[in-house]
Amino acid sequence: MSNLKQQLCQHVHAGSPAIYLVSTEEERVDDFIRDLVPALSMRRVQEWNMGHGWVKFDTKRPLASDLRSARTDLETCLLELLDDDELDGCLIVVKDANQALEQNPLAAARLKQLLNRIERHHNAQCVVLLVGVAFAIPSSLESLVTLLNLPLPDRGTIRQLLSEILTENEAVIPDHLSAGIISGLSGLTAREVRQVLRMAVRPGEPITQSDFAMILSEKKQIIAKSGVLEMVDANVRASDIGGLHRLKEWLQQRGQVLQRLDQALASGVTPPKGVLIAGMPGCGKSLTAKVAADLFQMPLLRLDIGSLLGKYVGESEHNMRRALSMAETVSPCILWVDELEKAFVGMGNSGSEVSSRLLGYFLTWMQEKSGAVFVIATANDITALPPELLRKGRFDEIFYVGFPSGEERKSILEIHLTKAKQTSEGLDLDVLVDACRDYCGADIENAVGEAVTTAFIDNKALDQQLLLNAIQSTVSLRETLREQVGRYEELFEKLKLRPASNQGGMSVAQMIRMADDPNQLKREDVAKSRDCPTDLLEKLVTDPQIAVQKAVYANPRCPERLLSIRINIRPGAPDFNSELLQLASENQNAPLDLLSHHLKDRSFEAGIRFAIAKSGHALGLAEFLIADDDVKVRAALAGCIGLPEAHQLKLSYEYANQVGEALAANPSLCNAAMENIFPRLRDKQKINLAKCAGLSHDTMMALAEDDNQLVRQSVAGNSDLPESLQMTLAEDEDDGVLDALANNPRLTEAARSLVLESNHGQVSTYLDMARVVDDNSILKELDEKSVEFKKDLASRPGLPDYMQVALASDENLNVRLAMVRNAELCKVARDVLEKSDSTLIKQALGLPTTGLWGGHWGNIAKIFSETAAIATKARAEEAIKWLDENSKK
Ligand code: ATP
Repeated sequence: MSNLKQQLCQHVHAGSPAIYLVSTEEERVDDFIRDLVPALSMRRVQEWNMGHGWVKFDTKRPLASDLRSARTDLETCLLELLDDDELDGCLIVVKDANQALEQNPLAAARLKQLLNRIERHHNAQCVVLLVGVAFAIPSSLESLVTLLNLPLPDRGTIRQLLSEILTENEAVIPDHLSAGIISGLSGLTAREVRQVLRMAVRPGEPITQSDFAMILSEKKQIIAKSGVLEMVDANVRASDIGGLHRLKEWLQQRGQVLQRLDQALASGVTPPKGVLIAGMPGCGKSLTAKVAADLFQMPLLRLDIGSLLGKYVGESEHNMRRALSMAETVSPCILWVDELEKAFVGMGNSGSEVSSRLLGYFLTWMQEKSGAVFVIATANDITALPPELLRKGRFDEIFYVGFPSGEERKSILEIHLTKAKQTSEGLDLDVLVDACRDYCGADIENAVGEAVTTAFIDNKALDQQLLLNAIQSTVSLRETLREQVGRYEELFEKLKLRPASNQGGMSVAQMIRMADDPNQLKREDVAKSRDCPTDLLEKLVTDPQIAVQKAVYANPRCPERLLSIRINIRPGAPDFNSELLQLASENQNAPLDLLSHHLKDRSFEAGIRFAIAKSGHALGLAEFLIADDDVKVRAALAGCIGLPEAHQLKLSYEYANQVGEALAANPSLCNAAMENIFPRLRDKQKINLAKCAGLSHDTMMALAEDDNQLVRQSVAGNSDLPESLQMTLAEDEDDGVLDALANNPRLTEAARSLVLESNHGQVSTYLDMARVVDDNSILKELDEKSVEFKKDLASRPGLPDYMQVALASDENLNVRLAMVRNAELCKVARDVLEKSDSTLIKQALGLPTTGLWGGHWGNIAKIFSETAAIATKARAEEAIKWLDENSKK
């Protein structure tokens, strides 16, 4: 309190006739006054209180002899002082000042007269000390009164109070709890500290962890009672936030500094001041403040700016001071200033004095704050914030939280599904993520909650449809606050605030900016984005560039309204464009009733009908498309997966090749339709068909059993070929079929073995064998031997064939030559050597030296196939052993 004493004396010596001391702690105020009297060189203290009027300061006994007849009200008591000639050296104390002056103009007027008199005649010799629990004085007195706050007890005082109570109760506190309890009690008045401690301390017993928890919960209540701060239970982890990675990472880093503040300061690190998080409602600003408390491991105090604003002159500033000083006493802590903009509403041009004083005070405090109070200010409407607050340097960083991207929506969905004790198994999250494109985190949370409740009421498990229904029935915040959101987004973009999310793609704000870019490619990019908001698509659909308009109609999020307008523009109309009509008609959001209406009317040209038949609308419009005059349209329908069997059958009677071919390639083709069309397919069509993905089993079987080996070859290479058909084809007589099969990337092990057993399929088998030889590491083993050793080896009698082959493949010419000269050279090794392009080898083999190798691949393949058949793993081990033994000889 010595600071306060010094401050007060300075004000009195400077001529201030009255000091207003805000405190709820009467006992501490009296201690302070006792200390003050000698410091101010006063002779006497004259105290007034509401109960007894003038009283003796030390005893609090009334001065009036008969209280029943005496007037004790302030205005009457002040009259006595107006006649007092001996004011010099008198400290006049007015307790309960806020109540006594409230709506009491007479008391205020008389107090003003007294203060004027002190100012004029008793400068620094007499002073009035007004004491109240809150600052509230009539405006007429404002210029005469200086406001001071009695600071809350510091850690030293709390420690003293704690030891008093422990002694009183003969109780003890374990060392590990002591510091926590002192921190836990900071921010409370001395009376509150005593009150909480008396509840927690039991005579003769040590303080326990649960007493500590009780102290914290009591403190929470007391802070809440103050009306300006609230202690928030922030039981959330960083993993509870979907996305916002940059912001989380930034906070994590600051947390590291704050947790080791002393070390950081010693290393010259500037202590973090705070962060302003601006952005859309419901996008996780408050959640982030709570997560910060977990990351920093600090208490979170929420300051509701709205609750600071008082009706009396100076009350708002006083409340602000009180809140900030409370936060400083509780420090280290996080002060979360929620809805910061509320403090500055109306500051604009008209300029509210209170707001600017609040701002001034807040900024100075931010600048000078000494305690480890980290400020997290959140704001929705950044337009209401004064520019000086947004200037760099006030906060360490200003982040902008926008609507979540697709990836972020996915993780928000997962988080809320988990919270609701659901799993994402069996759900198509990508579809759900798409459906909640314009949703903020809070909208997603609501939709999940809604779906889970419906599932519970209907007594069924949560499924995709329930979630989709809930999402579709939630009116997104973006929709509700459309204009406001647009305005904010533009502003955030203009101010170039740091985005809280990792930018995957464009943020909405960026899209808004790019939608006006003179570069049409940028506008086109916006129109193509799956995250492009509806209002922007509506704007871009009128773009002068046709490419931009096309991108809008092709966008899977293009709203039905725009598509309907386009579909209704008939040929001949000035803005008819068949490309745009086609894109609009095939868009998944195009209304089926409108499309069927135009199909029935035959008002679409063939190209459009074809596009519709190729689109996702085909099934819904099959009854119109099946009767189309154009074969191309019917063929497109015939290829449509899931086409009802009746339609397939009808189309299978058609003689048009295109239709039959399309039907044959349809993976959902039924057997009856297949039987109808297969005899009519030409070989070339079958060959092409056999290469198609997604063929039905029956179709593949028919192709695998076809008389034409080219058809069988074609289907043998199809990676969708099931194992049963691979096995059938592995026994095919035709080398080409085996070859194609061996090259099939999905050949199963069983089918592979069957192919290996076969004497056919040479080229592929060669490839396969090369792998086996390589695998079994004979070559690797030989590689490690010296050339001399290998040469010697190659010249020995009795070499097994696989060893000869390995040596015949050696990269060293001398080794190969030694092998050529071996009298027992086997056929397979010889064949390998014949492949060599060395003239010396060819001569040694007695071969002509040019033009030898054309057409010999089959032989070589066969050699390798045989060699590899020998070179099983067991054989490889045998070979290595053999090598070892021989190298020793
Ligand atoms: P307001 O400005 O309206 O206070 P806000 O931006 O502070 O909004 P929050 O209160 O943090 O939004 O979010 C509301 C709720 O929405 C949260 O309790 C949380 O459940 C959910 N939510 C919002 N964003 C996210 C997110 N990124 N990840 C997970 N949940 C989120």
